[in-house]
Amino acid sequence: MNRDSGSTDRDTFPPVTVLRGIGPKIMGHLQRLHIHTVQDLLFHLPIRYQDRTHVRQIGTLQAGDECVLLGTVDHSEMVYRKRRMLLVSVSDGTGRILLRFFYFNKKQQENLAPGVSIRCFGEVRRGVSSLEMVHPEYEIQRTGDTAKVEDHLTPIYPTTEGLHQLTLRSVTSKALRWVEEDEVPDLDLLPEIPEIDGCQPSVIEALKFVHRPPPEADTQALAAGTHVMQRRLAFEELLAQRLSLFKLRLQMQKQPAVSIAPPGRLYAQLIESLEFALTSAQERVIGTVFSDLKKNYPMLRLVQGDVGSGKTLVAIAACLQAIEAGYQAVVMAPTEILAEQHLQNFASWLSPLGVELAWLSGRMTASQSSEMKARISSGSAQAIVGTHALFQQGVTFHNLALVVVDEQHRFGVHQRLALREKGVQGVGSPHQLIMTATPIPRTLAMTAYADLDYSVIDELPPGRMPVSTIAVPHERRHEVVERVASACRRGQQAYWVCTLVEESEAMQCQAAENVFQELSALLDGVRVGLVHGRMKSQEKNAVMRDFARGRVDLLVATTVIEVGVDVANASLMIIENAERLGLAQLHQLRGRVGRGVQESSCVLLYSAPLTENAKLRIDTMRATGNGFEIAQVDLEIRGPGEVLGTRQTGMLQLRIADILRDQDLIPQVHESAKWLFAEHPRTVDALIHRWLGKSIEFGQV
Ligand code: ADP
Ligand code: MG
Repeated sequence: MNRDSGSTDRDTFPPVTVLRGIGPKIMGHLQRLHIHTVQDLLFHLPIRYQDRTHVRQIGTLQAGDECVLLGTVDHSEMVYRKRRMLLVSVSDGTGRILLRFFYFNKKQQENLAPGVSIRCFGEVRRGVSSLEMVHPEYEIQRTGDTAKVEDHLTPIYPTTEGLHQLTLRSVTSKALRWVEEDEVPDLDLLPEIPEIDGCQPSVIEALKFVHRPPPEADTQALAAGTHVMQRRLAFEELLAQRLSLFKLRLQMQKQPAVSIAPPGRLYAQLIESLEFALTSAQERVIGTVFSDLKKNYPMLRLVQGDVGSGKTLVAIAACLQAIEAGYQAVVMAPTEILAEQHLQNFASWLSPLGVELAWLSGRMTASQSSEMKARISSGSAQAIVGTHALFQQGVTFHNLALVVVDEQHRFGVHQRLALREKGVQGVGSPHQLIMTATPIPRTLAMTAYADLDYSVIDELPPGRMPVSTIAVPHERRHEVVERVASACRRGQQAYWVCTLVEESEAMQCQAAENVFQELSALLDGVRVGLVHGRMKSQEKNAVMRDFARGRVDLLVATTVIEVGVDVANASLMIIENAERLGLAQLHQLRGRVGRGVQESSCVLLYSAPLTENAKLRIDTMRATGNGFEIAQVDLEIRGPGEVLGTRQTGMLQLRIADILRDQDLIPQVHESAKWLFAEHPRTVDALIHRWLGKSIEFGQV
């Protein structure tokens, strides 16, 4: 089917108030859900469904079912346990169930008398001695009442305080009826209807179905989000997402940036000074970055490389190009401790080359920080290392040409946009290089980061030995302590990481203090050090330096050492309460060992009983050291929003699509996106507007 491209303009859809019965009060609520036009309402999609389309037999129920029942009250009594409650036993000839009420009045109690026939709806739970429903919706049946049921599955919508599901159902019904009228704009924006799972549903068919699924709909598929009608909409949403990021990227590329050309004399000097050869993956990625830097629009590149793959050198190579061309480069790290590590790393690589470094931390004294700021704005500092504080403290750069964001996947589109402002005055936006250790599947990366180019360092430096991983229950902690003691006495170095769940930082630091005291007292002849986030940077640095130089054998730490810390001689990693950490964190922590020549191991200390997910995490850690496999399991456990950090940044907030579940749609999405961009630019805008609304404003980009 062919249509005029872009026949539907963003203003074609009238405000919701054209629908009868929507007044200022409801409109106010709807606006809080970002619903302004009828189109917005149509695309406000249910998050789940209830099945009130038929009456279930009590004998067939299982815990977890949400359903309608019809039965007779056998027995009703008020009991006093911890609190007053009304227990009503109901049966229908196939079985019996208990209804439990905490809030009820005298009249309700009287009405629910033996012999009365009632209809109720609720969630079935397993009670002490039988199945039960807590606070079901119910209705007393009079003789002659027909067993009325709904003629479609009941949608449950995302809502906001004061806006009832019934109201949302009623307004969406109105919107769906409105679509039936003659003079409404065409909802099928796509010039061709995509084929999904062998069908070609129009968008309106899909919307009607998803808002009001018929009773015979495959409820399992609906619950899983895999019904073809849901996939039709998910396809469009992913397409809109892709288009918006793509567009953002094109607009970023329209910004000028300084073109940084080799010679690369400093880089050559650096390579000569290394005592190892670059891996071919490092060489390849550095080559790509160099050619990005030559362009006169900003580089926007995500480099992904597993823990220990040598990302720092890629960052340094890029910085050197910028510095040699006379510009400044910034390296941003997510935590202070990592920023400090970077500073040390950078100093050890760059100072011999004569590069001037500056350092900015949220914890500096006012005079230290104003001295640093002066060096940054005068241009005497060539490479600047710090945390995000760098961009929040009113720092002016002399001529910033490159921003490296390290170990940071929680860095969203908006933060990236903010960087544009920081570039060389009158010359352009800085180039951006973003480094992440989260090894996500390529299709996911390309969806979540469609505004970025993407490179992978898919090789570890040679000679890395796998870290053997064991899990030990807390009861045997003393054995682990002994093992650490004897390893340290043999000249090995170890980390002991303390974790707490839902901790305040203060509590976490306290826990580390306690373990430090305990281990210092227990372990004669072992030099124990402590680092945590609340120590002064100088103290922290001193301890880290002592550890790096072998003057401390055992380093007790909080998870602040999670990323980036690099001490090659450390070969033992103990993680306390490992069951509390996510896979990405465990993998990062384990990545702190296995960097040197000796065999390394990691001990996951846990407290039983383990939840199913915790067990899966620990088993996964024992089974594999491959970051990619670990990320796959992590995605299954936590979902892409958490793993990619898109939830925190407000990026990729999808209504119906799920980039993990729907990843098979992505190749088709990419193809359609390319084609729409080339042939139907107005459709692109209309689609973005439909699905993303005002959440990303491109006009000003
Ligand atoms: P990550 O990718 O985790 O940031 P790093 O950049 O910290 O990894 O590198 C980990 C360690 O490997 C560092 O000690 C670094 O000096 C070393 N390294 C980097 N590249 C190589 C290489 N090609 N050969 C040997 N060691 C390397
Ligand atoms: Mg690193």
